[in-house]
Amino acid sequence: MSSSVMKVVIVGGGSAGWMTAVALASLLSKKQVEVVVVESPDVASVGVGEATIPEIKLFNDLVGIDEIDFVINCQATYKLGIEFTNWGQKGHSYMHAFGSLGTPLDNLPFYQYWQRLYLEEQNLDLNDFSVCAQAARQNRFMPPTLGKNTPLSQLRYAYHFDAGLYSDFLKRISLERGVSLIKQHVVGVDCDIQSGDISHLRLKDGQCVSGDLFIDCTGMNALLIGKALSVKYIDWRSLLPCDSAVTVASSVLSDLPPYTRSTAHCSGWQWQIPLRHRTGNGHVYCSQFIDDVYAQQILLSHVEGECISSPKLIKFTTGRREKFWYKNCVAIGLSSGFLEPLESTSIHMIQESIFRLLDLFPAKDETGLYQHRIEREKYNQLLANKFESIRDFIIMHYFANSRKDSPFWSYCQQLPIPESLKEKIMLYQSSSRIYRDSHDLFSEEGWISVMHGQGIKAKNCHPIAKNRSISVVKKQLLSIKSVIDKTVSYMPKHKDFLQRRIE
Ligand SMILES: Cc1cc2nc3c(=O)[nH]c(=O)nc-3n(C[C@H](O)[C@H](O)[C@H](O)COP(=O)(O)OP(=O)(O)OC[C@H]3O[C@@H](n4cnc5c(N)ncnc54)[C@H](O)[C@@H]3O)c2cc1C
Repeated sequence: MSSSVMKVVIVGGGSAGWMTAVALASLLSKKQVEVVVVESPDVASVGVGEATIPEIKLFNDLVGIDEIDFVINCQATYKLGIEFTNWGQKGHSYMHAFGSLGTPLDNLPFYQYWQRLYLEEQNLDLNDFSVCAQAARQNRFMPPTLGKNTPLSQLRYAYHFDAGLYSDFLKRISLERGVSLIKQHVVGVDCDIQSGDISHLRLKDGQCVSGDLFIDCTGMNALLIGKALSVKYIDWRSLLPCDSAVTVASSVLSDLPPYTRSTAHCSGWQWQIPLRHRTGNGHVYCSQFIDDVYAQQILLSHVEGECISSPKLIKFTTGRREKFWYKNCVAIGLSSGFLEPLESTSIHMIQESIFRLLDLFPAKDETGLYQHRIEREKYNQLLANKFESIRDFIIMHYFANSRKDSPFWSYCQQLPIPESLKEKIMLYQSSSRIYRDSHDLFSEEGWISVMHGQGIKAKNCHPIAKNRSISVVKKQLLSIKSVIDKTVSYMPKHKDFLQRRIE
């Protein structure tokens, strides 16, 4: 092996470990990197992480995964968004659907015209103007078409999949592409006294594994970044107070809805994730307001169908690592932080970490050493911004609620929300304007869907929209809605579409 080859040692074989391994092995050559994964036979992966956002398709495409292989191997279904029930108010539902809302008019986003009409006619449903929301409600699915200006070209989708099967699938591909696997528990991490860099790992069987760059994918254990390198964890529980989840699998849903369900309960919320071989369920809650036993009872009493596994309890701390790349160690996955699963963003953060690492991948300098100080700083700044923008989006769901029926929801109404979020909400309230920062993950349509769904009201719309006669706006909106209705009525049922794809 030539000395110009960088040895990357990934510790951990959950989604983070294998996504990183497959990406490095697929996008860099063996002349550039040697990739080794050390996976413990003694510690199980967290075993959840089954709902995603549309960017996952980019990851799978980039590493050359065929969609049908993926759907078959990971028992995947398609996802068009998330339905939130009892969030803004008890008994109320809305959809945060992917894709666009309506079509822009006069160079103004569609939602400005929608707001114009909404200010006059409050019974207008924003979801009527989303092809993804409409298809989801009718359990229909088909992929987007290429033609411009048709509602179908604006459809975006993600997947639900079995997290364990996804890791196994990526592991098989990684091994085929030259990644080496050491199935051993890491018992010690040794650092170079002068540089403070990790020099090698000590394994349970006595082996030592050295490397140039170490990727900490050990989940919440954070064995390298936290335990060995003592990088602090910034605790965000004061902003995102849920700290526990109880999960259970249930039988397959007969209609296989192409969306995730998120139903708020008295002190948290419950997910329902439809897969082809089972349904994932979990109750995320705040242990300050409810005990584990009652939380489990709530979960089990709301599961649709028959439970097919024992309930599993998971404790977590929302927050992020102060630095994600420190010395020669990069934390990816749960070791880098966790924002709770409400908007299915953790697997995306793995993908984001991998892409940024590839953007800033270190090279050797003239002395033969890998220099990465400046790359590290940039990486840490980009990832911190991303974590914070997603955090704000999730906080908004909790903060903007009008529920009066439980101490937890009243507590959430008092959350000390970050200035960045406060500003976004105020701008929307004032004139329906949404401004995204460059690191915002969610689209304007995503922000408006959740703001409106949670009951945040805008007082006004853009002057250009206001300048249009209400009857013209109404006519245009009705015409958009009718095109969407017609398009959706031609789409196959999700279940039938899936069946045909995998046959
Ligand atoms: C309740 C809950 C719900 C979630 N839902 C979603 C969701 O819907 N969508 C989403 O995108 N994300 C979700 N996530 C997050 C998602 O589960 C994780 O981002 C993803 O699974 C990655 O986990 P990981 O690989 O970092 O850690 P893990 O899966 O925990 O893997 C850790 C790995 O490290 C190994 N390891 C640990 N210690 C050692 C050691 N000493 N030596 C060697 N190996 C070691 C373990 O064997 C394991 O292979 C959820 C998380 C939680 C807690």
